[in-house]
Amino acid sequence: MKVREFEARSVFRRHGLPVPDGVLATSAVAVVEAAETFACDVVIKAQVLAGGRGKAGGVKLAKTSSEAGQAAEEILQLTIAGERVSSVLVAPAVEIVRELYLGIVVDRASQQLLLMASSRGGVDIEDVATADPDAIHRVGIAPDERLPAWQARTLAFKLGLEGDQISQFVEIASGLTNAFVDVDASLAEVNPLVVDDEGNLRAIDAKLTIDENALYRQPEMRSVRQEAEEDPAERRAREAGVSYIKLEGSIGCMVNGAGLAMATMDVIKNHGGEPANFLDVGGGAGVDRITEAFDIILADENVKAVLINIFGGITRADDVAAGVIEARRGLSRDVPIVVRVAGTREAEAKALLEQEGLRAEVSMDRAASRVVEAVS
Ligand code: GDP
Ligand code: MN
Repeated sequence: MKVREFEARSVFRRHGLPVPDGVLATSAVAVVEAAETFACDVVIKAQVLAGGRGKAGGVKLAKTSSEAGQAAEEILQLTIAGERVSSVLVAPAVEIVRELYLGIVVDRASQQLLLMASSRGGVDIEDVATADPDAIHRVGIAPDERLPAWQARTLAFKLGLEGDQISQFVEIASGLTNAFVDVDASLAEVNPLVVDDEGNLRAIDAKLTIDENALYRQPEMRSVRQEAEEDPAERRAREAGVSYIKLEGSIGCMVNGAGLAMATMDVIKNHGGEPANFLDVGGGAGVDRITEAFDIILADENVKAVLINIFGGITRADDVAAGVIEARRGLSRDVPIVVRVAGTREAEAKALLEQEGLRAEVSMDRAASRVVEAVS
């Protein structure tokens, strides 16, 4: 899960990184106000998840508050990498003397954290890695250890830092490592880390990706996610314990098991249809979860028919069938429903469904062909 710069900055600041103050604003008026309060040159930055905002016109410097308002107006009209810019960060502009790079990722090969620093900051680190790999200095850190100061100092020398910058860099590198570990990140990056006109190091950009598997123990990051503009149907599905991904087609799919969901999409496509979603109600789905799944599928206006593919395993097919029957009673709209049922207690499931006037197929292929027919 990517985190916006504004949130990443607050995590980094908490870990002692020299991040300039900043204010989050959603209108040009608020930006003008913030610029007046700072009473200096400011930078206005689009708060979107994608990087490369500078190149996309999403980062602008302003000398006066009215210039700041103008810049905000322009940035707030942008869409960057498919995300509409709805907020900007306003911060005092830093006079840049040098731009460096500092980042941490998980290195799967060595099963360590990999701290990377380069004197070629402010540009895409992937480009540096290709064009000039020796310009990136690397330090491996065991996951249960922190960054030894001597290693940070060695890096600082390699970057050509001097005087107070050395101890500043040691603090920053260890702060970033601690932040990375504390929030269960998979990537933390300061690009650029700059030397300002007073010779001090400042972190003027912040990038953070959180490992989603750790969100259960990261309440702060979880609430960041809820505020993010996530697809409302996907959020609702997640809260209901259902895996749902919206697609572009017309056939809604409800399936128990992720592998089966993928196979179901394939079979629909083989018959010339297009799935409207990937939806896995999971094992042991009861009436509540199935009802929620129906609602999510039918809320998508593109859905013209639904294919329910039940495979009884540990979860009995007749239990799922009973859930489907019960959930179907309260449907928000009427669309053709085709059911395929196989596996544990398939005969009982089939009988239940047929009592309710739902013809159940045992063959996945036939069920797919029927549902594709229903939408064409
Ligand atoms: P990104 O393009 O999404 O990585 O956004 P950044 O925050 O890295 O900003 C892009 C570029 O804008 C930086 O590499 C800097 O060159 C420039 N920039 C950002 N903030 C400042 C600032 O405070 N002062 C100056 N002079 N330039 C800045
Ligand atoms: Mn950057």
